[in-house]
Amino acid sequence: MPKNSMEIKVLVINAGSSSIKYQLYQMPQARVLAKGIIERIGDEKAKLSHFYNGKMFCLEKKVENHQEGMDLILDTLTGKKAGVIGDIGQIGAVGHRVVHGAEEFTGSVIIDDKVIASVEKFVDLAPLHNPSNLTGIRAARHNLPDVTQVACFDTAFHTSIPEVAYMYALPYEMYEKYRARRYGFHGTSHRYVARKAGQLLGKHKYELNAITCHLGNGCSISAVKGGKSVDTSMGFTPLEGVVMGTRSGDFDPAILFYLIEKGYDVKTLNIMCNKRSGLLGLSGISNDMRELEELSREGNRRAKLAIDVFCYRIKKYIGAYLAVLGGVDCIVFTGGIGENSASIRGQICSNMDLFQIMLDSQANNRAVGTDVKISAQDSKIAVFVICTNEEAAIAKDTYELTSRTKR
Ligand code: ADP
Repeated sequence: MPKNSMEIKVLVINAGSSSIKYQLYQMPQARVLAKGIIERIGDEKAKLSHFYNGKMFCLEKKVENHQEGMDLILDTLTGKKAGVIGDIGQIGAVGHRVVHGAEEFTGSVIIDDKVIASVEKFVDLAPLHNPSNLTGIRAARHNLPDVTQVACFDTAFHTSIPEVAYMYALPYEMYEKYRARRYGFHGTSHRYVARKAGQLLGKHKYELNAITCHLGNGCSISAVKGGKSVDTSMGFTPLEGVVMGTRSGDFDPAILFYLIEKGYDVKTLNIMCNKRSGLLGLSGISNDMRELEELSREGNRRAKLAIDVFCYRIKKYIGAYLAVLGGVDCIVFTGGIGENSASIRGQICSNMDLFQIMLDSQANNRAVGTDVKISAQDSKIAVFVICTNEEAAIAKDTYELTSRTKR
């Protein structure tokens, strides 16, 4: 730890529509003091799962809204039963995940009324996420009015994507009037794993060229050049790109016009593309990769088809980004599927010898839950499994911005 570095506790908040995830960090050591989640906010009974000192504390009770959720989190963190701090005065800063920062936020920022107004403005672009993120910010500001609060945007890392990659070939006024362009998401994760990969390769962060594959329920691939995002598979919304748990990824938009002519309405089609497609839609069984892998092994044709399409599309993006980047130091797999499924990683990287990508199958099979190289010795392009940690990235940004203002 550098001399004179400030020691504070940073609370990281990720507020979803009916849940709040939280982690309390001791900074700058990035030690997790406690973490947890409240699920089913607004339902008959919400559930708090709280982890601290190697123990777990659960509670079920009605939590009406995000403000009550935030009250419960702070009560739990300071409580006698499962608390880790004496009082909320020990929290030195709060970092919030915010999904959409549009073209305005190129990095994390300290939240003030102007930032809140902008996040509100972008609700239009992220109607499912920004409103929940805002309720989390408002609740935390209410409980901790004198504490620095920081917003970390999923889109920020991708604001370096050049015009040639973010413009859609629609009439130009669609961009001018509506800012219809590629924004990209999962930016905090892509940035985190790219930085980690740089460290593993002993490269300065702005020297790394990489293709990062975030494969969770939502999936996206990014092309990183000189440590900066230059392209990514998700677009105006998280719907574009590779096949996901329930999202379709790329398909011909004319199918939508065709279905509208057949009598489908916009709302139904929106739900179909975002909630009923992807692995779930193709398999007709599940959006859960573990389940599909098991069924596929047992000979289920549709489960196998879903996996095959999933891997094929990712391979296509990797091929495209190899061409875009010119030279690539490494490919990174992260997210629930990327970190845990050796067979999916193996299938994606199969027959890539031509591109100098070769896996070490033993290393690949062994890699679960650790940051490790899985490529063969003679593979020119390294392949890594890196466990993403968006919360740690948010805590770090929050710490850095807070200590800069306090210096
Ligand atoms: P989210 O995007 O919601 O954060 P995760 O990153 O946790 O989701 O990823 C969830 C996905 O990871 C699910 O499809 C799940 O089946 C998959 N997954 C988790 N563990 C494994 C595993 N051991 N093998 C294959 N897939 C896995």
